[in-house]
Amino acid sequence: MIIKGVSAKTILDSRKEKTVLVSVKTNAGEFSASAPNGKSTGSYEKKPYKKSLEEDIKAIKQFSDYFSEDILDKFDDLRRVEDVMDRQIGANTLFAFESAILKAIAKEQKKQVWELIDNNAKGFPRLVGNCIGGGKHSSLERKPDFQEFLLIPNLKNVKESFEANKKAKKEAEWLLKKQDEKFKGNKNDEDAWATSLNDKVVLEILKNLKLPLGIDVAATGFYKRKKYHYHNPPLDRENEEHFEYLCNLIRNFNLFYIEDPFEEGSFEDFAKLLKKFPERLIVGDDLTTTNPKRFEKAIKMKSINAIIVKPNQIGSLIEMKEVVELAKRNNIKIVFSHRSGETEETILADLAFGFQADFFKCGITGKEREAKIKRLIEIEKGLK
Ligand code: PEP
Ligand code: MG
Repeated sequence: MIIKGVSAKTILDSRKEKTVLVSVKTNAGEFSASAPNGKSTGSYEKKPYKKSLEEDIKAIKQFSDYFSEDILDKFDDLRRVEDVMDRQIGANTLFAFESAILKAIAKEQKKQVWELIDNNAKGFPRLVGNCIGGGKHSSLERKPDFQEFLLIPNLKNVKESFEANKKAKKEAEWLLKKQDEKFKGNKNDEDAWATSLNDKVVLEILKNLKLPLGIDVAATGFYKRKKYHYHNPPLDRENEEHFEYLCNLIRNFNLFYIEDPFEEGSFEDFAKLLKKFPERLIVGDDLTTTNPKRFEKAIKMKSINAIIVKPNQIGSLIEMKEVVELAKRNNIKIVFSHRSGETEETILADLAFGFQADFFKCGITGKEREAKIKRLIEIEKGLK
């Protein structure tokens, strides 16, 4: 495949915030891809744009003719693109550019994007769906301190899991209406229910849904000056108190999946929790930021047994692949994940399937999130 031209423009994400869409003109036609935006971002993420989105758009145009002598025909050829582009643009623009290239290569070879990664991919990831949310993703004054309350069905296939999550989310709406007098069907950034109830009451409600449960504590969001500052109810917890509180919740609500239980520098606390609950998933997101160096440290310190992979945290799909390979070598579960500000881009599903992710964390409803889950279902249907 030969790139004949590259351009980029601004589009809006699900939060109506600006993000980037990159298009490549090739001998196989024109292909575009867009990047999402995070809000509860980890400090170790790569910057989404080098200086600004507008500057990235200008920068990428300067490379419009640059690749016309190059033939790109496999995933690892992205390395050649990165050698040129890496320092010129930020992670969002690089991710969108590389995604558009993968679509073009796939089309030229009459393949699907996932086939460029693993022609023999078979197993499908389990869905992780955000049902109720608090923290930085909720605009309510009173809200749970934890960012996400997750449903993780373990059913026959993606389609059934998607249906189960949608049904359970409806049931949760009904339960919230009964218990939260302020609840009027409000939604948060990821289209999960936004409630004024606190973490414990939310978990009590979700227990009724009879599905495996998880939480994204996103603890960096309420950590300051060596304490975890809870608001609902107001209480500042020391490290040890926060740790014990989480242990109680994990036991009492049989939580199967716990993401970012401590602030993003707490490799030791993660390790302590994993040692205590080796059968549960202790998941790194802000801790690891899809960065091979951070991940190596987490592996060395035995901090996690599952890792969030968000391609635009790192931008480079080659480094993202390194993260996936590190995870596989070290028996760490892989969770491909959306961002809170999403577009209708679906390549995340192809990446997750191609790299044989264990989990696919992509909300439950909302057109941007459903587009990705439906793409995964389409792949599943195609393989039958
Ligand atoms: C998350 O923390 O898992 C998340 C999706 O947040 P954001 O995209 O806002 O960084
Ligand atoms: Mg997270």
